Amino acid sequence: MDAKTLAEIVKGELVGSGRFGGVHFDSREIAKGELFIPVKGRRDGHLFINDAFSRGAAGTLTERRVELPPGKFQVVVRDTLEAFERLARWKREKFKGTVIGVTGSVGKTTTKELLGKLLGRNCYTSKKSFNNLLGVCYTLSNLPESARFLVQELGTNSPGEIARLTKTVKPHVAVVTTVGKAHTQGFKTLEAIKKEKLSITEGAEVAVVPVELKEMCRADKCLTVGRGGTVEVKNWGIKGGRTLFTLKAGKEELQLESSIPGYSIVNAAAVAAAVALELGIPLRELVKVVREFSPPKHRCSVERLPNGTLIDDCYNANPVSMENAVRVLASFNGPKVAVLGEMLELGEEGPKEHRKLGELLNALGIEELIAFGAQTEETVKTFKGKGFHFTNREEFIKFISEFPFRGKTVLVKGSRGNRLEEAVELIRERL
Ligand code: ATP
Ligand code: MG
Repeated sequence: MDAKTLAEIVKGELVGSGRFGGVHFDSREIAKGELFIPVKGRRDGHLFINDAFSRGAAGTLTERRVELPPGKFQVVVRDTLEAFERLARWKREKFKGTVIGVTGSVGKTTTKELLGKLLGRNCYTSKKSFNNLLGVCYTLSNLPESARFLVQELGTNSPGEIARLTKTVKPHVAVVTTVGKAHTQGFKTLEAIKKEKLSITEGAEVAVVPVELKEMCRADKCLTVGRGGTVEVKNWGIKGGRTLFTLKAGKEELQLESSIPGYSIVNAAAVAAAVALELGIPLRELVKVVREFSPPKHRCSVERLPNGTLIDDCYNANPVSMENAVRVLASFNGPKVAVLGEMLELGEEGPKEHRKLGELLNALGIEELIAFGAQTEETVKTFKGKGFHFTNREEFIKFISEFPFRGKTVLVKGSRGNRLEEAVELIRERL
């Protein structure tokens, strides 16, 4: 795109001239010839404009005039995030392909990645968990015109966010993976969470939602996942770390198998089956894609190591994904250790949910628990096996580097804020 077109789209003032390829809001990620869009987060992105230029940025979009290196351009606007949104909306209007939006309490990234594989080479998917306004603007602004499909993840921390993102993404197919307890801090009730998630269906041609939420679906056509729905999970189980399940999709029944243990792949596959039915993709393709699908990083990935098994699910945690992970751990034979961090962002529900986790570990017969973080004190108190609790990071890491993990299956899981990757790496080395 040339700088002049950009200035027209965002209604900004152009200084200099030039063209750019992709865009990025993180100066460290800027590639040669790209546009740098600084935004105000914890730090003001404007501080990194020179850094972006030194990495080869062709130009920048800013809120104040800056000194430009020779041959570079800038477009000055009142608010860079607002301008970014304008650019994203403009790109969305131009896009001729089919847009699939994915939201839900858990399973957004897993489902997005699986859909991406099912739709194949002509599909562009949003990166990582880029699911907020910035993430959506980033995806749309970089969307290749040649793509036939876009799968975009949509996330929320407070009421109204999904509705705003939906107006920008305008999905033809709107997906709600699950609705449950996650990010409850910003929401007063489960009803409020449901309403928030379902707002993705507003204006969509087709939606795929859990069957119990059908009444709240606003799309022209509503496909459902669950008992009596368009796609039904007939039975599922974990055997030797693999998940085996049957889906009934329309008139067909499919036997599926995945190397990812637990319900995440089952639900993602059920959603993908509904999308496949709608888009006319043969369901046998899905069987193959599911068999070959490996989990996104740090999400229930199982590693069989010389001296034990490691389940790395340290990406994040909330009550729904925690229960899933602990059940996965319980499905393994032999001695089991749960290395657990906190489930953050639960607000008032926090203490109760951490106690419930202790009860779940008891019910499933998990022998040992190494817990980290203030809130897991409740879990350790409730736990009847051998429990250890740490709030000091150094002490926790030291304990991990000495604990006898050999011959055991070890699950590591906790919220992003607990940064348990370090524990994962230590345990991996020691197994
Ligand atoms: P975030 O809001 O952090 O971006 P997400 O919605 O993108 O999360 P994923 O990254 O796909 O979710 O999965 C997060 C965790 O939830 C993983 O531990 C995964 O195994 C688990 N998970 C995914 N789907 C389900 C499901 N349907 N039921 C239970 N657990 C699930
Ligand atoms: Mg995600």
